[in-house]
Amino acid sequence: MQQKDIDAAAASLREELIAFRRTLHRFPEIGLHEVETTQRIKEKLLAHGIEPEYIIKDEKIGLTFSIEGELPGNRIALRADIDALPVSEQTDESFRSERDGVMHACGHDLNTAIVLGAAIVLNRLRDRLCGSVKFIFQSGEETLIGAKRAIEAGVMDGETDIKYMFAFHVKTDVPLGKIGAKCGNALAASDTLKISVIGKGGHAAHPYKTVDPIIASAAVVSALQDMVAREHHPADPLVLSICTIHGGTVFNVTPSEVTMTGTVRSFNPELRDRLPGMIERVAQHTAMAHNADAEVLYEKGVPSLVVPREMFEDVKKAVSERFGADRFFEYESPSLGSEDFAWFSQFAPVMQVSVGSRTDRPETALPLHNERVVFHEDCILTGVRAACAIAAETTFRHD
Ligand SMILES: [Zn+2]
Ligand SMILES: [Zn+2]
Repeated sequence: MQQKDIDAAAASLREELIAFRRTLHRFPEIGLHEVETTQRIKEKLLAHGIEPEYIIKDEKIGLTFSIEGELPGNRIALRADIDALPVSEQTDESFRSERDGVMHACGHDLNTAIVLGAAIVLNRLRDRLCGSVKFIFQSGEETLIGAKRAIEAGVMDGETDIKYMFAFHVKTDVPLGKIGAKCGNALAASDTLKISVIGKGGHAAHPYKTVDPIIASAAVVSALQDMVAREHHPADPLVLSICTIHGGTVFNVTPSEVTMTGTVRSFNPELRDRLPGMIERVAQHTAMAHNADAEVLYEKGVPSLVVPREMFEDVKKAVSERFGADRFFEYESPSLGSEDFAWFSQFAPVMQVSVGSRTDRPETALPLHNERVVFHEDCILTGVRAACAIAAETTFRHD
């Protein structure tokens, strides 16, 4: 499939995709509740002759379908996330959110427009498409359980032969026109932690009659950071952040219990298996040194996203050969952020492809999730062209 054919088809959709993205942006929906968003995507697909199926059938949320090429080749999958965030939009855009407290602040409206555009283009060019491309419009990415839910609902049933799966994400820290990815460790596994430190409450004026869980908790928080810094190899990424701490009701009563929650990010599966034991040991013994007790609840969440070298090189080649080597960049460091797309790694190698969307107005080029973030809408066209180029190259069977 030649790039000039992809580009011509993509260019003809430019205004339509921008208008569609703006509609999604005006009416955002929180993760796992994207009923209207799903309907809008479905109607757009039907208008272009594509018949999708619901992923969560009883709730009519999320969509999937395949485009079958007329030439032999590999099967790959492209995924878009469709959910918004509980953020109150503060931009001056004419199409800003009309729903209080909900905003497409992570750009999933653009991710959706990109993958939708790719579906329409590849469907039009299927006489030149090798193999087949599965599409997934997935709910609830920000909840980090949306992909898992989609898998449980059967979105991957019978899929035994997918060569690669790609997710596309717009990035405001990447210049417009650039396409990037990370080889190897890309995005971390995300686990959650709850620690209860149990002491004995009493009068704050007589601490020797109590077991103060606040002092013990402060020591536990510090000891956990010491554990990361002193027990763990610094070249193997690990972040442990305690993010909530609750205890007490009034200034002169020592409480009986303090609860803390946090997140643990890592890549190494062997380390991940050992972490609950390590954290429990440090928390319990530190609490014990203060005559208190600690209970640890460690819950494994989304796995890490690790990109195989061969997959990375295939994408680099596709983008570099079709758009020029300067258009592709490789992230130097892994991100300790997480992406629920990693749940799909049990079925095929997965990669998140970054699509540059930085505006030329510095005051709006803010981080994702910021209430004032604005994206350069031309990233839709770049994204569609890149997604189709990657699909064309990776479905083509070289042997
Ligand atoms: Zn996000
Ligand atoms: Zn996102």
